[in-house]
Amino acid sequence: SLKCGIVGLPNVGKSTLFNCLSSAKAQAANFPFCTIEPNVGVITVPDERLTRLAEIVHPGRIVPATCEIVDIAGLVKGASKGEGLGNKFLGNIRETDAIIHVLRCFDDDNIVREGGASVNPVEDKEIIDTELQLKDLETIDSQLAKQQKTAAAGNKDAKVAVSVLEAYREVLIQGKNARTVEFDSKDEQKFAHDLFLLTAKPVLYVCNVDESSAKEGNEYSRKIEEIAKAENAEMLIIAAKTEEDIASLETYEDKQMFLEELGLEESGVNRLIKKAYSLLNLETFITAGEMEVKAWTYHKGWKAPQCAGVIHTDFEKGFIRAEVIKYNDYIQYGSEAAVREAGKMGIEGKEYVVQDGDIMHFRFNV
Ligand code: GDP
Repeated sequence: SLKCGIVGLPNVGKSTLFNCLSSAKAQAANFPFCTIEPNVGVITVPDERLTRLAEIVHPGRIVPATCEIVDIAGLVKGASKGEGLGNKFLGNIRETDAIIHVLRCFDDDNIVREGGASVNPVEDKEIIDTELQLKDLETIDSQLAKQQKTAAAGNKDAKVAVSVLEAYREVLIQGKNARTVEFDSKDEQKFAHDLFLLTAKPVLYVCNVDESSAKEGNEYSRKIEEIAKAENAEMLIIAAKTEEDIASLETYEDKQMFLEELGLEESGVNRLIKKAYSLLNLETFITAGEMEVKAWTYHKGWKAPQCAGVIHTDFEKGFIRAEVIKYNDYIQYGSEAAVREAGKMGIEGKEYVVQDGDIMHFRFNV
């Protein structure tokens, strides 16, 4: 499943966000949030299409996609040099697919900012970025000299490695993130990916604001918005403390009412997960049968056999064809049989590019 790590300086609202994510379990009672470790939780990806399809198919169960959330505490100035929890948490980030960078965008004299300085999310962001960049530089420098030597001896792979390492090094020493570098060749891309650099991971900035700024944001969040734009990154405004209160309400109706009072249509949790999906270019296809209606995550642009492989490698190996029903057709005609009768079911081959929301049935040889 998808894995996102929450980072940010102390007291910016990471745990609060983590808590309101974990309380989201109430929305999917049969697939609860479960805490694997104190700082790791799994939440289900909200998708009302599953519910609508289940009303038609009456499956034994609904299985939504999941997303693992890791609260990575202990990131402070000097962390790359072992301050705070130091290197331990950096290992935790390495394993994630994306980073959720929480920034304090609320005033509150009772909650201290490190060093007692006034609220400044731009500076906070730079501190975290710098720590992660220093760590990446360490990773690069631990390999560069050796690869250079091998490359000098004429090794082709090492030449690829050196070009990647040097390109990264150059932006990192300028205080920029590794994700600003793009590589043309497949070999370079592969080597770059396998470095698992922290600042190469896609990032989502979450501006943690007060209740009164939940809808429109504030001066702080607008500064972050500008920066995110310049970086081509995504940002999201969430009033984490308020959302924590909302999450503790009993019924769905109560929650929805509270959200509407704030001028929001959807909870921060839902918006966060949706953003994370689009950030990572992920989409969902669905299988709908008597046993279960299930969401499957795949990368945008994947063809039918690759998607079949998400379910089982045998499905990919023995792929013959896929029967595809568009979600809207399924809902409109009200059953698979009716869709077939109307001639709306697609019979697709190896080259079919799966679309978000497709209801797939794979035919394969065993
Ligand atoms: P962490 O260290 O980043 O995990 O921060 P916490 O989530 O523990 O939050 C630090 C403190 O700030 C807690 O007392 C929270 O209740 C409080 N807090 C979090 N978000 C907000 C907010 O939007 N407004 C205000 N006033 N306080 C908040």
